[in-house]
Amino acid sequence: MSEVYLDGRFIPLEEARVPVMDRGFLFGDGVYEVIPVYGGCPFRLSQHMERLDNSLRSIRMENPLPLKGWRRIFTRLIDPATDGDRLLYLQLTRGVDRTRNHLFPQDVDPTVLVMTWGLGPRNPDIAATGVFAVVLEDNRWHRCDIKATALLGNVLLRQEAEDAAATEAILVRDGLVTEGSSTNPFVVRSGEILTPPASNQLLRGVTRDLVLELACGAALPCAERPIARDELEAADEIWISSSSREVQPITRLDGKPVGTGVPGPEWRRIDRLFQDYKARLGAGAT
Ligand code: PLP
Repeated sequence: MSEVYLDGRFIPLEEARVPVMDRGFLFGDGVYEVIPVYGGCPFRLSQHMERLDNSLRSIRMENPLPLKGWRRIFTRLIDPATDGDRLLYLQLTRGVDRTRNHLFPQDVDPTVLVMTWGLGPRNPDIAATGVFAVVLEDNRWHRCDIKATALLGNVLLRQEAEDAAATEAILVRDGLVTEGSSTNPFVVRSGEILTPPASNQLLRGVTRDLVLELACGAALPCAERPIARDELEAADEIWISSSSREVQPITRLDGKPVGTGVPGPEWRRIDRLFQDYKARLGAGAT
């Protein structure tokens, strides 16, 4: 039975309960983080914790724990000897109120949850055939830079993609690509790697930033700049990135082949850089 951390206690997942008056349950009033763990080591931990602080600040909550406190929880929940690669899930809500009232409650402790689950091995089909995506209108709110638990917009878009036999929706607002329903997109055009610039219209992915860092480090041409829908549709390659999916090649967009219709050479190069980086980290690099 897997163990979770909830409000100061380590308990079996099956016994974890949150009151119905929790503002996370009533309003989606909370934020979260998802951190990969490779070889027992949280990946890009400082970047994830910095983004958590940004999300908390944006919704006017304080981080209730110092980094040392978070680390103690993670260490207890991760067993590198038996666990393999995992995801850590952290969620904080504004806490439990006495009445259902939109206004922030006073003198209430946040609800803090940390749980973890296995990542499973890499699916070899992804490198062989890639994954499919559809383009959908981005109809979410204008604070997509906050990693908020209120994910109804993303959930509906992801389901719409699934219903169209695609594994991701690439979102477009005012003719420009924003992000995926739970990923950041990259487009390769004439050898240049492009991704939309960070803004309130998208979540700045930790994986996205690492892809840019690795591309720059390898002197691959890359830029953060607005991407028009027709540039996406005419791309040589399209990739998506996230903590749980790493970097995946999109080989069909709205049912049409992307480039040659198979994972492209630039994707192979970035995936190699990404896997090498992970391996170095496992060997003790940061
Ligand atoms: N954009 C959205 C909407 C997401 O939900 C996610 C991850 O869940 C990402 C982008 C990718 O972020 P990261 O690479 O930090 O996992």
